[in-house]
Amino acid sequence: MLFSHIYLEEEIKNNARAEKILSKFPNANVIEIGHYKDVFCRKRQDVLLQGQTPALILAKDRGRLLYPGAAVCQNFGREHFYYTSCVMNCIYDCEYCYLKGMYPSGNLVVFVNLEDIFAKVEEALQRQDVYLCISYDTDLLALEKVTGYVGEWIEFARRHSNLCIEIRTKCAGQRFYAQWAPAENVIFAFTLSPQAVIEQWEHRTASLQQRLEGARAALERGFPVRFCFDPMIYCPDWKMQYGEMLVQVLGQIDMERITDVSVGSFRIPQDYLKKMRKMLPDSAVVQFPFENDNGVCHYPDGLMEEMERFLTDRLAEKIPAEKIFRWKDQAF
Ligand code: SF4
Repeated sequence: MLFSHIYLEEEIKNNARAEKILSKFPNANVIEIGHYKDVFCRKRQDVLLQGQTPALILAKDRGRLLYPGAAVCQNFGREHFYYTSCVMNCIYDCEYCYLKGMYPSGNLVVFVNLEDIFAKVEEALQRQDVYLCISYDTDLLALEKVTGYVGEWIEFARRHSNLCIEIRTKCAGQRFYAQWAPAENVIFAFTLSPQAVIEQWEHRTASLQQRLEGARAALERGFPVRFCFDPMIYCPDWKMQYGEMLVQVLGQIDMERITDVSVGSFRIPQDYLKKMRKMLPDSAVVQFPFENDNGVCHYPDGLMEEMERFLTDRLAEKIPAEKIFRWKDQAF
């Protein structure tokens, strides 16, 4: 991964994490800026064409740092569900990704004041156990060579037994796991999709086979592993595609070793979808005639039920029902 342009907030130019990241791109053109929003929120930055590399912006997060989990996200039965975004945007380019509808730009923002986020999490941990997703608005593991943040989070989690972290990824990252001692409160959550879906809509991500090899490496190292069959994406031959995917997954992974699984079909807030439809007029995945339920767009009820049941029924033959979390079990 090569960034030819790096924007650096003046306030953090002597920050150790910023310096470390900059040292990895000695040939990049570094441009000092006052505030990351000066670049990130600039008009006409929202579409990154396939193959185009986003600019990197190094910044300080001066916002809330810790957010309650969104209603459209699976909480896996955890009461105190939060998420945090130490990186905004992703080096991958899933056509259906809500980030396209959420952010004004496709450029990548890396916040370097991780210690402020840690302090905020520690505040919350004094009140209660915390379940924290740290890789929603990016794929943090895919950026590990640049940031080293997953490693920092593992060490942080190791010091806080009432914290449980989820790291969602579409990355293989086999070599990563050997470098870190396992932590039982750090869950690596692999999003699994049929290879045809990956090829058509999950641009630049690891193949299904590579993700399974990553999952196996994480399991062998002793990390908890979750499988997210979420979002399920409709295509005319979805039943065949998802059926073949399950054969591949179940043939290679001992499901008894998997912490839990989630199943959910694609859904998205209406405002994000509106923006994405404008950006991607020819995309079958975002132009689908969704139903709108209180501002959340999803496949028609019958199709949603059929798709999710198809997977949950088959998974129930391999893992106990209480380990299968289905999106529909939550309220919109
Ligand atoms: S991997 Fe996740 S965050 Fe990255 S583009 Fe795909 S859906 Fe978005």
